Amino acid sequence: MKKETSARTTDPRFVVKKSGPGKGQGLYAVAAIKKGDFILEYVGKKIPTSLADTLATRYLFEIDSDWTIDGSERSNQARYINHSCDPNCEVYIEKGRIMIYAIKNISAGGELSYDYGEEYFDEFLKPVGCRCASKKCREPAKE
Ligand SMILES: [Zn+2]
Repeated sequence: MKKETSARTTDPRFVVKKSGPGKGQGLYAVAAIKKGDFILEYVGKKIPTSLADTLATRYLFEIDSDWTIDGSERSNQARYINHSCDPNCEVYIEKGRIMIYAIKNISAGGELSYDYGEEYFDEFLKPVGCRCASKKCREPAKE
């Protein structure tokens, strides 16, 4: 995995816009992106995971049992990336930082997604149904 030294929170390669039905906003590629390309770092306030467990925000990203990133600031462009059960991006923890890379080629105008993981899925998505619309969806929204 190639290293990324500078922290990028917003990037002109991406644009935030309205996503599919019931999904709010999403993050879209302006131009084509290649598999393996660095996308963004998920940035925010670094808080103890024990504190994060008491907060009711959807934008918490756990690095490990000690530290969590609260990515609720709008300047954290990565927070707009929606969940998919069949995503085109993946998150890697590198030296305590949350780095997102493309795991598929993404065409211009394509929506970026990564798998939020079982814990988030069971807490927030399963009760209402997932709207990723992929064929591999674990629990599609009914209707
Ligand atoms: Zn799904």
